[in-house]
Amino acid sequence: MPVLSVENLSKNYGNIKALKNVSFSVPAGSVFGILGPNGSGKTTLLGTITDILKPTTGQYKLFDEVPAASHRRQMGTLLETPNFYHYLSGRKNLEIAAAIKQHGADEIDHILDTVDLTRRKDSKFSTYSLGMKQRLAIASALLGNPPVLIFDEPTNGLDPVGIAEIRSLMRDINSQGKTIIMASHLLDEVEKVCTHVAILKRGDLITTGNVNEILSNEDLVELAGTDNEKLLSVLQSYPAKNSVVQEAGYIKLYFPVNTANLSDVNQYCFNNGIVLNHLLLKKKSLESKFFELTNN
Ligand code: ATP
Repeated sequence: MPVLSVENLSKNYGNIKALKNVSFSVPAGSVFGILGPNGSGKTTLLGTITDILKPTTGQYKLFDEVPAASHRRQMGTLLETPNFYHYLSGRKNLEIAAAIKQHGADEIDHILDTVDLTRRKDSKFSTYSLGMKQRLAIASALLGNPPVLIFDEPTNGLDPVGIAEIRSLMRDINSQGKTIIMASHLLDEVEKVCTHVAILKRGDLITTGNVNEILSNEDLVELAGTDNEKLLSVLQSYPAKNSVVQEAGYIKLYFPVNTANLSDVNQYCFNNGIVLNHLLLKKKSLESKFFELTNN
């Protein structure tokens, strides 16, 4: 069941079309990246699914149902840096955030541990590094143990160490079974952290799906025939490929970028007694996807 499905969502600010008929769904357990350059509509999209903004047209569902307060309680959000008290400790700030959100304080120590702030929990917020402040903000989103977390550009403004810590934290949180939906303008970040992606450009959804398939720096040839078992076994010895797998009813043949040749693949299968009923070059290189994205 998808935790979020966006259906033909559009949002206009006067004449500006920030989102244009966007549809995609976020599988449970994924780290879902919303990737796009500045102004592509990422924040507008997150604002809409968190009920801060009303869509102009279209709708979205949470946990496959019409969104209600009970669904929203299952989503921890970090859309902008929370206003923590500078003169209070990290722990005290979390206690206040928990009280505001009407959650108990008993989970705070565990959450501080998750975000690796136990050692500095009694230090004043004003003494925290930017990375620690961001980890405290993530801790605040984790209050109430929500199964879904929504982060807007969680590594923005951090130094390389801070960025690595947040990325590792997101992987840890995801490995605890939580779904993460995050906006990012960094292709590299989405590749490193996300399992799935939706790529936006000026409000249009360019593509969505599994990161390995969309952003991988390989060519993917998708094939099918009447006997996929035989096809798979024949393609095991196909020269110049990287790998071959059977997945979701298709055989997927991977090549180094820009080397897949559909005619050669077709001829090889035919020579080995297989007539294909499906042959498709699916994957574009990371580079071409990036150019498509930035329009260079
Ligand atoms: P960034 O990374 O710069 O925040 P973004 O991908 O999150 O960009 P949005 O902030 O959603 O993009 O903006 C999408 C478009 O909508 C932009 O053209 C932006 O200028 C416009 N926009 C956003 N908010 C408003 C608003 N309140 N009023 C008018 N236009 C807006």
